Amino acid sequence: MATGIETIRNEFATLAVCDPVLGRDSSTLTQFRAMHQLPLPDTGPILRPRTVDDIQRIVTRSAELRVPVVPRGGGSGVVEGIFPNPEVVVLDLAHLNRIGQLDTVNGHVEVEAGVHAWDLEQHLMQSGWTLGHWPQSIELATIGGLIATKSIGQYSTRYGGIEAMVRTLDVITGTGDRITVGHLSPRRTLGPELLPLFVGSEGTLGIIMGAYLKIHPLPDHQQGLVFTAAEFGDGLEVVRRWLMAGVKPSMVRLYDAGESARTFPTAKGRTVLLALFHGSHAEVQVAVAEATRLARYEAEPGDPQFIDHWLATRNDVSAWRPLLAQGLLADTLEISASWDRLANLHRTILQEVSAIPGVLGITAHASHAYTDGANLYFTFLATPETPEIAPDLYRRIVAAVLDRTLDGGGSIAHHHGVGRLRREWLARERQAELPYLQALKDIFDPHHILNRGALWTLTNPLSNSGNGPSTD
Ligand SMILES: Cc1cc2nc3c(=O)[nH]c(=O)nc-3n(C[C@H](O)[C@H](O)[C@H](O)COP(=O)(O)OP(=O)(O)OC[C@H]3O[C@@H](n4cnc5c(N)ncnc54)[C@H](O)[C@@H]3O)c2cc1C
Repeated sequence: MATGIETIRNEFATLAVCDPVLGRDSSTLTQFRAMHQLPLPDTGPILRPRTVDDIQRIVTRSAELRVPVVPRGGGSGVVEGIFPNPEVVVLDLAHLNRIGQLDTVNGHVEVEAGVHAWDLEQHLMQSGWTLGHWPQSIELATIGGLIATKSIGQYSTRYGGIEAMVRTLDVITGTGDRITVGHLSPRRTLGPELLPLFVGSEGTLGIIMGAYLKIHPLPDHQQGLVFTAAEFGDGLEVVRRWLMAGVKPSMVRLYDAGESARTFPTAKGRTVLLALFHGSHAEVQVAVAEATRLARYEAEPGDPQFIDHWLATRNDVSAWRPLLAQGLLADTLEISASWDRLANLHRTILQEVSAIPGVLGITAHASHAYTDGANLYFTFLATPETPEIAPDLYRRIVAAVLDRTLDGGGSIAHHHGVGRLRREWLARERQAELPYLQALKDIFDPHHILNRGALWTLTNPLSNSGNGPSTD
């Protein structure tokens, strides 16, 4: 008798594609394992449904047969949200690629989940509009993936994270039911909304088919500002004062000394602060003048070319793969904290990670700021003695960053999400909430077929059960 997974494979054979790379995301350790022939489980069947009806049929049948399913967008996730497993069906949403009419009266656009963020942005810009979502992975990620991971873009101070842009979601739950959550009215008070539950749910509560998103007229003016300061803490104080005073550059980036030296060698050991303002000419002039006034105690004007350099290179990540191919471990980890905790967290994490044998360096920048805090985005480089010990070294570095973050009162994930990489720390940070999160899983995915093992479902991704079964 055929197993559940064989039945799915046979019944949906016409939708099958053969490319094992689609069964994993862009996580560093997974890439490293593939490059250096370290153990990596096989990928299960990969299906590329043509329509939403196809997806509904696959999910309904998988629920009947209790076969695990994981949705895939652009595969640019970096937290093992999609991890190879021969017992899991991968649903590649590439055919959900339709962009609907722009509603320029209300500033809305309807988009299917598989549309790439770059394609949407180009489409909007041709008509003088923008989504305002510009993650570094804009050319790689899909709208469904960006919503499912609660992503954020480089202009977050002006436009917010993706959660500020989603008006409605069309979702297929773990039973194959199709529901629309949210509303196009700007606000309503009808009890708690279901929509936020799916933003950041990483494919564990439902598969996003499409969304109505809020869009904005393209601003007609842009101006950059560059400052340098003696210490990272001085730069943090400038950014804090800006946000508190309502000065909101679209983009704000503060590099610590190590990262400033690497990115801007002429900064002479000072910490570099970049800001980019958008809006009408008058609006930008006022904001720039106020930002300059508020920065005068801790910072001094820096080389304006730094901002041109950032604009020209901001999406270039071509240096990473060659490092991994050489046997080095290079990756990033982002956390968040309130203003009063950031400088201490930055110092403690740099000290602790630098002391791990094999670590060549760790630097950080803050790239998303709020009135009450900011993120810290760490970049590390390490050299394992052999490829075989790379997973242990990698895990030790991740643990040092996330343990110290919890100790220091921060949150362990600012925008990359949890996947399988950080679920242990999610369980610690949200311990008291776990029973309620589990109850949500039971409601939307009662057979636990959707992305088993991601987020709060606790299993070892490298155990023989791979992405599941969930043990919670
Ligand atoms: C070079 C690089 C730069 C990056 N820069 C940023 C950045 O600036 N900001 C940022 O926030 N992130 C960034 N990321 C991380 C990544 O791009 C985001 O997590 C992105 O949202 C993933 O989108 P995707 O379409 O590639 O999703 P995938 O990688 O395909 O999937 C990610 C997760 O979402 C789930 N999923 C995918 N599609 C759906 C769907 N339709 N319904 C339900 N679940 C779904 C998957 O199962 C998986 O768990 C970066 C990654 C890289 C490699």
